[in-house]
Amino acid sequence: MKILPNRMDRGFYKYQTEFEAKALEVLRSGWYILGKEVEAFEEAFAAYTGAKYCVGLASGLDALWIAFRLLGIGKGDEVIVQGNTYIASVMGITINEATPIFIEPDEHFGMDPDKIEDLITPNTKAILVTHLYGMASRMDRITDICRKHNLKLVEDCAQSHGACFNGQMTGTFGDVGCFSFYPSKNIGAFGDAGAVVVNDETLAKEFKIFRNYGSEKRYYNKVVGANSRLDELQAGLLRVRLKHAKELTEERERIAQRYSEELSNPLIMLPQIAPGATAVWHQYVIRCEEREKLIEYLNKREIGTIIHYPIPPHLAQAYAYLGHQKGELPITERLADTVLSIPMYNGMTDDEQAYIINALNGFTN
Ligand SMILES: *Cc1c(COP(=O)(O)O)cnc(C)c1O
Repeated sequence: MKILPNRMDRGFYKYQTEFEAKALEVLRSGWYILGKEVEAFEEAFAAYTGAKYCVGLASGLDALWIAFRLLGIGKGDEVIVQGNTYIASVMGITINEATPIFIEPDEHFGMDPDKIEDLITPNTKAILVTHLYGMASRMDRITDICRKHNLKLVEDCAQSHGACFNGQMTGTFGDVGCFSFYPSKNIGAFGDAGAVVVNDETLAKEFKIFRNYGSEKRYYNKVVGANSRLDELQAGLLRVRLKHAKELTEERERIAQRYSEELSNPLIMLPQIAPGATAVWHQYVIRCEEREKLIEYLNKREIGTIIHYPIPPHLAQAYAYLGHQKGELPITERLADTVLSIPMYNGMTDDEQAYIINALNGFTN
């Protein structure tokens, strides 16, 4: 049986008629940028997260860098960010010429609250939390620290649509929640798309102005902005996806639960959710000391896997100028050497999952 690490086609065919009807409706409407689909999606997504406002943008990276820009974070400012995040989180900081200060994760892949205060300096302006793999970080402690030190709090929710901490949805704890709707994300578009959620009305307005060349009124430009508009077609298709968000998340939870119950190989460590957190299982990430052997073993059985991520941002060539060395973030680097995302997608069949579980339980070194 051939198993791919992800199957975006399954997510499409599950609601094929609804997606196709919406696509035709938008195509036939004659209106393609910033219209009623975007407005309706923004309203629905704000309501979904529990935030007051949502502003649609062109990508998750745009959500991140525009957030820091509008929060006034730039040259000379430091932002604390997990070492074990996707590099886009870090780019959101460095595009603004601010400095990323890398922090080690806890045993749940989230930001380790115990390590934050040691990293705070007079230049620290913000904390960027990534709810990696769809598992919420420990937001009670993190929000306390931000309040105590008067720091801005930005959440990278590109993998955590719907994940909660103490019943509150990720993205709503701080100043800005940044979302990506890249096709493989839990709520995925059919192209690039992103959004922010905020509770501050002025800030929401600033995002709307910034995404459209800095203009509120056509050809009257207040600030040097960007072209980062969510388009009508993606917004319409995202409305369809969002309507089914609950069942999509529940399906991923069922798949993850079965993995956690039935995987029983002492060579494989399973992911653990932090107390108070929920996970929406963007990825199901195992750890294995003999990862390369395991990948080869699974490849022979036609089971695809992905490493998220093999090179941590502080060691990426792009960030050589920051001068970080291997060994500086031992936990992060250890994870980069041992993590493996096993197949996880909406529409996985019971037979497919049984085949994957069987294979993993049969792995020996
Ligand atoms: C996907 C992702 C992003 C970037 O989103 P894009 O829409 O691809 O720009 C940022 N952060 C994390 C953690 C991601 O997984």
